[in-house]
Amino acid sequence: MKIHLRQIPQGGTLHVEDAEDPRFLELEEVEARPVSPVHYALDVGLSGGGIFATGQLRLRVRFRCVACLNEFETDLIIDPFAVQKELDGRESVDLTPEIREDIHLALPAHPRCDAGGRKTCPARFSQAPADDTSPSGNAPWSALDKLKTEKSEN
Ligand SMILES: [Zn+2]
Repeated sequence: MKIHLRQIPQGGTLHVEDAEDPRFLELEEVEARPVSPVHYALDVGLSGGGIFATGQLRLRVRFRCVACLNEFETDLIIDPFAVQKELDGRESVDLTPEIREDIHLALPAHPRCDAGGRKTCPARFSQAPADDTSPSGNAPWSALDKLKTEKSEN
């Protein structure tokens, strides 16, 4: 994602809006699969020997839910995206590392398909609580056994 400094108007900002192949994100290591290009809409300007860019990044990513292990897709939106970078004398500035870093930071460490309340994770009710040490833990089953016994006696 390169910005040519010549294109930025003096004292103004350059609006850049496009989509890029998501392969540069290198998300494979974090088990997130981009299923759309990286859309960006940025306003880029110059100030005090540096370049700044503000705007929005957006892409669709496929995750695997940590609870039910089902895959699900979600839109990852970074808004506002803001970056400031010093100029190093080159004619263009590459914002790729900054975009990649911000997207990586926005990824959930433990993705869940029910994040945001869009749906109910199927694992939510089938998971036994790990700290259940109460002696009545088997109560529903013993009640069921009793019912069976009573039925067979009739
Ligand atoms: Zn789930």
